[in-house]
Amino acid sequence: MPKSINELIMQYFQSHPNKDLPHGPVVDWVTKQYLKENPTPPRDPWRAIRKLHQDGILIKVSKGIYRYEPHNTKQKVIFDFSDEIKEKIFERDGYKCVVCGRGREDGVELCADHIKPKDKGGDNSIDNGQTLCMEHNLIKKNYSQTEAGKRFFIKLYQKAVKMNDKKIINFCKCVFDCYDIHGINGHITRPKIKDRKEEAK
Ligand SMILES: [Zn+2]
Repeated sequence: MPKSINELIMQYFQSHPNKDLPHGPVVDWVTKQYLKENPTPPRDPWRAIRKLHQDGILIKVSKGIYRYEPHNTKQKVIFDFSDEIKEKIFERDGYKCVVCGRGREDGVELCADHIKPKDKGGDNSIDNGQTLCMEHNLIKKNYSQTEAGKRFFIKLYQKAVKMNDKKIINFCKCVFDCYDIHGINGHITRPKIKDRKEEAK
């Protein structure tokens, strides 16, 4: 199985641990290795390096210079689906978005989505993948943003009740109402409000 861009980048950084590495030579090496197993050069290895930095695996020293510290990185290295796994996910789903059923012949771009997100422990297995069009992938990402938001407001609300902060209590209620009105994240139960009149004062 050909190595993915991420695997090649990590192979380079792991063989030069604790060193400040300008990305130019890394990209050159990765491209060279990649071309041994693939007919076309890798797509945007610079972006892949930046992504590894955003995921907390590589440390950015300065512009274009990164370093890998084995003891100072998230223990679980987060890799994306390999191209082979992606293809198997698409194949299983019939090359169609599992939500809207549209495929490439309808002019939509497909992506392999992690059903359980990587940062919540989801792995890169076929079973954890599903085919989504870009639109539904974006909706799913935004949906988890609103989920995180609702949980945050629940915590804020509980704190405000403890401190009897009426302004924040009422603000949070408005936010929960807004979630309800738009039918967003109904599976997360909003806090039970015992005495609406009392708190509304
Ligand atoms: Zn879709």
